[in-house]
Order: sequence, then structure tokens, then C-alpha cells
Amino acid sequence: MTSETAKTVHQCQCDVCQAGTDRDTIQHHRQMNLFLSRLNEPQRRWYVGLLSQKPGGDSDRQLSLITGLDEETIRRGRRELEADLTNVPNDRQRREGGGRRSAEKKTRS
Ligand SMILES: [Zn+2]
Repeated sequence: MTSETAKTVHQCQCDVCQAGTDRDTIQHHRQMNLFLSRLNEPQRRWYVGLLSQKPGGDSDRQLSLITGLDEETIRRGRRELEADLTNVPNDRQRREGGGRRSAEKKTRS
């Protein structure tokens, strides 16, 4: 009966979950993947990029096993976060009447 969710939610490939020894870890990784399955692509890499920066947290390699994201994708998410997501369009930001003028010329370089 759980085969339906198994299709959409990534199954953790880490050693602990493979061995099936630590219930708390298995549960935690399962919930991480459940959560990730509801996010869009950029949100997934930002979340995992954020986790990769957690002091004493999992390495990129480990997070890659847990979430199924490439290590390169995780690094990319981290870089984008470090850059304050400035180069990433924010869909939710809508122009409200009379906002800032984006046409101001930047005469640099
Ligand atoms: Zn795991």
C-alpha cells in the first residue's frame, strides 16, 4: 500500500537507513525526503545547501545519499545562499504600483 508514496518520495541511501539500525535517524531522513518532495527545485537545493552549512552537520556526500540531490546541486544551493539569493528571481515579489524604478542606469564596469 505504500508503493504509491515510494514513487514520489526519495528513499534515503545512507548507511544507517540501509542497515535499518537507528529508528530515529530513519524517521528523520524519511521526513526530510517527504518535506523535500513538496518543494520545488530551487527550494530543495537551498534547503539542503542550508543543512550542509549546519555546524557538525552532514557532509555534502552524506546529504547527497540522504536526499538524492547531486553534490554539485548542493554546492550550487549553498553558493546561492551565500550570495543572498540575489541572482535568483523571486516569483512572489510582485511589482506594487509606484515601486522602485528598475530602469536606473548603472554605469559601472
Ligand atoms: Zn538515511
